[in-house]
Amino acid sequence: MLCAVIYIIMIGIQIKNGFLDFAKTDFECPHCKAKYSDADDKYLKRCEKNKSWTTKINCKCGKPFFMTYDYKGDAVSFV
Ligand SMILES: [Zn+2]
Repeated sequence: MLCAVIYIIMIGIQIKNGFLDFAKTDFECPHCKAKYSDADDKYLKRCEKNKSWTTKINCKCGKPFFMTYDYKGDAVSFV
């Protein structure tokens, strides 16, 4: 959970720098529609370590969800 908070702060910094303009790494929590971005490939690396190619995310709304990358390389989230 602390990691998620730190990551949200990092996202805020990246948005200010305009890093998100070219990335197709945006996804949102299926529960509360909170916006996430994987612009630094943090979740991509977590997916690569996982045999199922998905990674579980504990959203700040308190509900977990999963994300992965589809065949186009776009980030997708699901419950
Ligand atoms: Zn949420």
